[in-house]
Amino acid sequence: MAICVVGHSNPDTDSVTSAIALATLLNAQGQEAKACMQSAVDNLNPESTMVLERFGLTAPEEVTDVAGQDVALVDFSDIGQGPANLADANVVTIVDHHKIGDVTTNNPILFRAEPVGCTGTVLNKMFKEAGVAIPKDIAGGMLAAILSDTVNFKSPTCTEDDKVAVSELKVVAGVDDTEALFMDMLKAKSSVDGVPAKDLLFRDYKDFDMKGNKVGVGQLELATIDQVAAIRDDLVKAMEEVKADGRHSVLLMLTDVVKEGTDLVVLSDDTALIEGAFSGKLEGGSMWIDGMMSRKKQTVPNLQNAFGC
Ligand code: MG
Ligand code: MG
Ligand code: MG
Repeated sequence: MAICVVGHSNPDTDSVTSAIALATLLNAQGQEAKACMQSAVDNLNPESTMVLERFGLTAPEEVTDVAGQDVALVDFSDIGQGPANLADANVVTIVDHHKIGDVTTNNPILFRAEPVGCTGTVLNKMFKEAGVAIPKDIAGGMLAAILSDTVNFKSPTCTEDDKVAVSELKVVAGVDDTEALFMDMLKAKSSVDGVPAKDLLFRDYKDFDMKGNKVGVGQLELATIDQVAAIRDDLVKAMEEVKADGRHSVLLMLTDVVKEGTDLVVLSDDTALIEGAFSGKLEGGSMWIDGMMSRKKQTVPNLQNAFGC
């Protein structure tokens, strides 16, 4: 029975390409393994779909239940992020870069976790240590995963090891311009073409209670703010509808991942309070906040302070 190599649910590029890479390494070492993912090909996120196409990789097959199977986990070790019945599977290997989860085993296994930015970085080391050459297409996938997970080295999770892995993998993959590759991935991920404005507003949206006031904050991560220029009025209209449903304020973070800042679109019963929260001045309903990338770390705390929470 082939080992099912699988990454976490709602798979990202690292989960998909690491499953392919580890299955390849295991096969090269004489263990029968197949790459799997917890998604149908049609439902795979646009960034990963683009990466598979770009490097000519076959999408891993979908797996939903691993009862009784031999499985290898990549990019996670939490039972809750695994396929159904993971607790009844035989976990034979784990390669990861997250905190250690709650998977347990009855036998000793190869468990390789490192505090680096991407599972692909760990796998690059494993190929080297095993003396197995990484096929060109798979190197491309691993390269893309590292750029994605580390947000092109900008994430605080990025390490020197990730940069070394990228410098090695780009040569194997025949990729000269990793910046261009990252931008193509970002554009795929942040594509807004044909998506209704309200869906975009709710793509990544949360409501918060601020001292009895309902405040909604959405975020769109973009390669450039220009991506939404043509639909900006529609977005504001969607925000107006949402605000009319009993909200004190609705904010939409249009985050420019390249410029590392956010154009904060604001609808509020008290715009002065929102301006004060971010020491900014609204012009035409929005204000540019340099360095604002994270709703959790940079937007919500400022709002809570301003509302006196
Ligand atoms: Mg992941
Ligand atoms: Mg990862
Ligand atoms: Mg990720």
